[in-house]
Amino acid sequence: MSADDSYEVFAIRYGHHPRPASANFLGGDPHDGNMPLDYFVWAIVGRSGTVIIDTGFDEAVGARRGRQTTKPVREGLASIGVDPNTVENVIVSHLHYDHSGNYDLFPRARYHLQDREMAYATGRCMCHPVIGNSFEPDYVVAMIRKVFAGRVAFHDGEDRIAPGITVHHIGGHTKGLQCVRVNTARGPVVLASDATHLYAHMDGGRVFPTVYNVADVLEGYATLRKLAPTARHIVPGHDPLVLTRYPAAKPGLEGWVARLDVEPAA
Ligand SMILES: [Zn+2]
Ligand SMILES: [Zn+2]
Repeated sequence: MSADDSYEVFAIRYGHHPRPASANFLGGDPHDGNMPLDYFVWAIVGRSGTVIIDTGFDEAVGARRGRQTTKPVREGLASIGVDPNTVENVIVSHLHYDHSGNYDLFPRARYHLQDREMAYATGRCMCHPVIGNSFEPDYVVAMIRKVFAGRVAFHDGEDRIAPGITVHHIGGHTKGLQCVRVNTARGPVVLASDATHLYAHMDGGRVFPTVYNVADVLEGYATLRKLAPTARHIVPGHDPLVLTRYPAAKPGLEGWVARLDVEPAA
């Protein structure tokens, strides 16, 4: 591996949702205090360009769904000098509304998606509101339009996006959920996205209530651990603790943009 294949990695918070802990776990939670979710996109920055993971929701859809937009995704990217017009690769972990909106933000990008996720989001499972409600039809249609425009690269299981950046099918939460593994100066970092919403899910063997297959969620925690050298190299998809454990990308970005390629605090 050359130095060219080692990246800086950022978690960029764009949204927030206060909620009781019982809303975060299948079967509820015995303590049931406040346990909010944060909403993130991630940026992988290296010499050969920037790879974005997920595109968030836009403010209108967030508001309709009762989610607060803390900072629009575009502003988060700008805070670390990422111009969306120059981004050539976007990895979509899965097609839930909070990961696949802002679909016009990256006009030049190719979108990387698992075969199974597109089949899931356009097939019979969407006939069931309890599953389909987590998808935004306009966002799914926008991805279909990108397919016909030649702007989607499909992956089946594990694949390489760039030197030192790979995707890995996990499933569970959605049928085609994928996580991302990226080489950094502290070793490979695994961006779990919704393969574990919070540290508490993976650490406790617990399951977020939005789910396609419970067993695959639980097996997914083992997959994350196999992909990462230690648990400290796994970054959950919605945990506010990410912004306290990792340092701000630079002064002034505290609580907004964190640097993931450096060791987290305990
Ligand atoms: Zn999700
Ligand atoms: Zn999510």
